[in-house]
Amino acid sequence: SLTDRFNSVFKSLSGRGRITESNISDAMREVRKALLEADVNYQVAKQFCKDVREAALGAEVVQSLKPGQVLIKIVQDELTKLMGPEGSDIYYVSPGPTVIMLAGLQGCGKTTTAAKLANYVRSEGKKPQMVAVDLQRPAAIEQLKTLGEQIDVPVYCEDSKDSVKVAKNGLKDAKKNDADVVILDTAGRLHVDQELMDEVSNVAKAATPHQIYLVCDSMTGQDAVNSAKEFNDRLELDGVILTKLDGDARGGAALSVKAVTGKPIKFAGVGEKIEDLQKFHPDRMAGRILGMGDVVSLVEKAQSEYDEKEADKLKNKMAEGKFGLDDFLKQMSKIKNMGGIMSMMKMLPGMAGKMDDLDVDEKEFKRIEAIIRSMTYNERKDPEVLTASRRRRIAAGCGLTVNDVSGLIKTFKRSRDMMKMMASGETGSMSAMKGL
Ligand code: GDP
Ligand code: MG
Repeated sequence: SLTDRFNSVFKSLSGRGRITESNISDAMREVRKALLEADVNYQVAKQFCKDVREAALGAEVVQSLKPGQVLIKIVQDELTKLMGPEGSDIYYVSPGPTVIMLAGLQGCGKTTTAAKLANYVRSEGKKPQMVAVDLQRPAAIEQLKTLGEQIDVPVYCEDSKDSVKVAKNGLKDAKKNDADVVILDTAGRLHVDQELMDEVSNVAKAATPHQIYLVCDSMTGQDAVNSAKEFNDRLELDGVILTKLDGDARGGAALSVKAVTGKPIKFAGVGEKIEDLQKFHPDRMAGRILGMGDVVSLVEKAQSEYDEKEADKLKNKMAEGKFGLDDFLKQMSKIKNMGGIMSMMKMLPGMAGKMDDLDVDEKEFKRIEAIIRSMTYNERKDPEVLTASRRRRIAAGCGLTVNDVSGLIKTFKRSRDMMKMMASGETGSMSAMKGL
């Protein structure tokens, strides 16, 4: 299985001392082979390996960890990204009813999923109704009716050949019954063909569902992904429900379908019973595929200890007023990655206007970086030595103006003073900051 394959790839790395270009290349070749054997889409596998490689080469290496361990964590994170973001909340409209349409090939699990989903939305306090729009096989209506009785959810059906008419009448009936959620179970075929696509898109046009979910049989690997792509081209899909994940030996569909369609995996079917529907969690799925939970938590622990140590060091530096421009640059790049925190801080009373200089976007950060990189080691450690002539030299070195350099130094000093105050834990530092 994919898990076993990953295991042997990482074992081969475990003896190495560092992550280097060449051992990462060997490992990624193996990872790519493993993904392709697991029936992952070729383009997806290729891009995945590229992303892992980049992340691995840029990774900060914590002393206590082995490169193989770090790589496992990176692979798990990238697997999570590949299948994410998480998107399982159903969007309910008000006033209702919220109309949800299920589409997909025959046997993928639409009818079963319709009942599972009805049961799920009821657990969220909604009143569901199902509509039997699959008129291709008489047994399909019976199947949905039986499931409906089992979970005590009404099923609208008609003896008709006109699926558009049945869908419309089903909606009317649901409104009459005060249903909050209507689930349309549509027809499928063994393969995507024009007739099937015309039928589902006609039903979609007539019923104007708020959400269209593609039901995908994960056992069928690439086929599932290819059909998903075709459905996605014809219908405005809102998400994918992957069924039969309980029996999925290879994992290829789960790993490819989000990347290929761009649509989130909403739910996972994990068995034949009504309760066997779960919200899809990319991180858990990645963990399951990789099967290296112990190593990943070990790495996370080591990394957070490392971060804590770094933060302590920084705090001491700040308290002692030894915080230099290099530290400033490091912090800025963290803030840039954190995104919203600065705008959050600005909302604190007394902070409006004071933090504007600290707001960094990508462009601003590049400028700050260019200026600091043009300074000598001593200048970075102690900006007090930056005389007018040194500032001119730095400005010339980074291709910016003396004003830019002076502006940065001013911002730096202000934030250093502020940090010193916060780090030394003065009480009432918020009110002290107002005086800045
Ligand atoms: P439809 O043709 O798309 O409506 O598919 P059905 O709902 O009739 O399902 C086809 C078969 O797949 C049935 O035997 C279901 O019990 C089975 N099935 C559906 N979902 C799952 C699942 O998540 N796990 C397993 N093991 N079987 C499933
Ligand atoms: Mg069916």
